[in-house]
Amino acid sequence: MSTPTNTDRFPAPSPAPFKLEARFASDLPEMSAAWQGEEQPAPELMLLNEDLAHLLGLDPDWLRTPAGVEFLLGLNPSPTTKMVAQGYAGHQFGQFVPSLGDGRALLLGEIQAPDGTLRDLHLKGSGRTQFSRGADGRAALGPILREYIISEAMHALGVPTTRSLAVLTTGRKIQRGQVVPGAVLVRVATSHIRVGSFQYANITGGIDLSRRLADHAISRHFPELDEPRTEGPDRYVGMFNRVMDAQNQTVAQWMRLGFIHGVMNTDNTLISGETIDYGPCAFMERYRDGAVFSSIDTHGRYRYSSQPAIIGWNLARLVETLLPLLGETPDDGMDTAQELMGTYADRYQKAFHREMAGSLGVSPDAPGAEELIGAYVSLLRAHSPDLTMLNRALSDWSEDSVAPEGFGEWITHWWSFTPDLEAMQRINPIYVPRNHLVEEALDDATEGDWEAFHTLLSLVTNPFEHRPGHERFEQPSPEGFEDDYMTYCGT
Ligand code: AMP
Ligand code: MG
Repeated sequence: MSTPTNTDRFPAPSPAPFKLEARFASDLPEMSAAWQGEEQPAPELMLLNEDLAHLLGLDPDWLRTPAGVEFLLGLNPSPTTKMVAQGYAGHQFGQFVPSLGDGRALLLGEIQAPDGTLRDLHLKGSGRTQFSRGADGRAALGPILREYIISEAMHALGVPTTRSLAVLTTGRKIQRGQVVPGAVLVRVATSHIRVGSFQYANITGGIDLSRRLADHAISRHFPELDEPRTEGPDRYVGMFNRVMDAQNQTVAQWMRLGFIHGVMNTDNTLISGETIDYGPCAFMERYRDGAVFSSIDTHGRYRYSSQPAIIGWNLARLVETLLPLLGETPDDGMDTAQELMGTYADRYQKAFHREMAGSLGVSPDAPGAEELIGAYVSLLRAHSPDLTMLNRALSDWSEDSVAPEGFGEWITHWWSFTPDLEAMQRINPIYVPRNHLVEEALDDATEGDWEAFHTLLSLVTNPFEHRPGHERFEQPSPEGFEDDYMTYCGT
């Protein structure tokens, strides 16, 4: 991109004990704008995820040094070859926006972890970029902490997700209706390639850029298509099929857990299948198909029960950017795309069936499993139980347990499958980030009291282990709380 950059203001480099790669920036310069973070008045490293740092081969002690903190703010270029803001497009609530991009984010580069995987190190709230469209490029501490705790909870629950490495407060006061502390999140993902990245490549660079982006995505996520190299349409059909399976698997897990993403725009849908952008998300307590919490989702486009259909819609937006790559002729490409999308509903259903069978401790292939799961979902709809408590109560079931209202007959039938309770206890959590607990933790931390945040974080990152003395964290929110609960993009 031959656009202005702000990289001329780098401070004197302080050496770092590692080096990042810049594969995205070098493979896709048309989608990368060289940039750096903005200077911060009084930065402070508030949270550092040491386990994740070790997984990445980063030394937590170095990250805590002044040079490390500069690095985490996008101000120390010594470990990086090129920090960039990434360009992407996206359908937001169904409306196409051709130029979104990292308006307050930066890709520091990719790190080769000791386990051999390549991960993006990415900042959110690091200041204005050429994609900011008049906004301030900053993020508020509350929403940044929300992303930290919920993404780490999702990871502990086994859901593919971006992860959170660190939170820094900037010392800046920012305007979000009221004056709130500014913060930067350091986020880790196997990549930040979005459906919206393909939309951007398609409209700005046509088939050449789309192909290079697809090849880059394949090298990052589906290396088996490179070894040996699959050529022609099969290569991109292979990629699309893998994206579909990854996304179906993730959304099926959301559905099993009662997770509502809240803003499933195509720019918030990753090719890797990792869950990204924990803005207005929420865990539903009382089961309701129509549950929607986001203040801006006025028509309920992203309500709980619509999530599978929406991911199908987003995948259709992806496949249409690939048409010229999917066939030798435009007609062939179109036919292939239609065929692929024709398999979507069935493949999602299978993923959901596997997830639900696991949650109920039965083999997905057991005769009658489909009817058992169907009857369970019907009862959830009819009785609206607290989903987390019910799934866990079943996982801890014994002959003396008391069936919740309406579930007696179904439980007798389920018991006849001799469910594997131990397996259930490893996937049905005791602790999820319940909305009232998250709000309480965030409010306190924003006021400077971090105790509630750390308690909740430690519970939701060990969600299957009962912690005596923390019973209130297993319980639903107070009567009426969920009815009025609203989440905000809160940027
Ligand atoms: P999000 O809702 O975080 O997925 O963001 C959607 C788009 O708006 C992305 O292009 C963001 O970079 C941009 N954006 C959100 N908040 C800000 C902000 N405070 N400053 C600049 N860009 C922003
Ligand atoms: Mg986003």
